[in-house]
Amino acid sequence: MPELPEVETTRKGLATAFVGKKITGLIVRREGLRYPFPQDFDSIIGCEVVSIRRRAKYLLIDLDNNRVLLSHLGMSGRYSLINPQDVASFADEKVESGTYTSGKYSDVESSKYGQRTGFSGKHDHFELQFDDGSVAVYTDPRRFGIVKLFNSEEEEIQPLLEILGPEPFEDWNAKLLADKFSNKKTNVKVAILDQRVVVGVGNIYACEALFSSKINPTTRSCDLVNKNGQPSKKLIHFVDEIKSVLERAIAAGGSTLNDFAAVDGTLGYFPHQFNVYGREGQPCKAENCDRLIERIQQGGRSTFLCPKCQS
Ligand SMILES: [Zn+2]
Repeated sequence: MPELPEVETTRKGLATAFVGKKITGLIVRREGLRYPFPQDFDSIIGCEVVSIRRRAKYLLIDLDNNRVLLSHLGMSGRYSLINPQDVASFADEKVESGTYTSGKYSDVESSKYGQRTGFSGKHDHFELQFDDGSVAVYTDPRRFGIVKLFNSEEEEIQPLLEILGPEPFEDWNAKLLADKFSNKKTNVKVAILDQRVVVGVGNIYACEALFSSKINPTTRSCDLVNKNGQPSKKLIHFVDEIKSVLERAIAAGGSTLNDFAAVDGTLGYFPHQFNVYGREGQPCKAENCDRLIERIQQGGRSTFLCPKCQS
């Protein structure tokens, strides 16, 4: 599942490619993803992309008509960028822009860029076409992605957005987390995944940050707060590690971005090096530790931990 670093990498890639460009066409191949596509989806045609922001795992594409196009990648969504030269190489089978009409999806059966996007086109659900001839293809095999369109002044009252807690990189610290945790008996692993506590800390990075700060994932959240309401040393370390692991992943995504885009045009996925995530039964990477990584279930999700380092 795309987590915050993948979404941030996608945001940077899309912003680099499309800010300042005009959307000249939209092709839609189904009625929706997790929810139906906006009835007025085609109203984005003719708009210029002013900026592309991220809030939690939502991409917010600001258009020059004061509308905001929200895109969430769900479980398996991704954007691929097809540059004008490659679009031209598909010219003999290129579909015309503007085949979308409000409330109906195109009868174009599959993407002409299918080989390019890696899913043979059948999971390429919509395409944005730009005035320089480039195309962004949205691919999502599991179709849990979300697309919404709203006026910019309505952003704060969007139900998807208004429930979100603080961003990990913006004025978030251990004291704020201690305030949330002081009366919470839920274990720290489940609690940190709650988007009302802090946004964007998904399962992978929660496991990694707990390992780095030597916290057992079954610890009650309130036990990481001192009696006077101040964060414990472990909690301070945990917050530092959350920021650090996310920053490193964003940096890794950024550094592989060019290579990746050159290979298959795909944004947002890159190889990871994890200490515990996905390493059940493999040796702990900590120095002087002879234990194997274990996997437990918490809140319906897998947690990976070292039973010695995180005891
Ligand atoms: Zn260990």
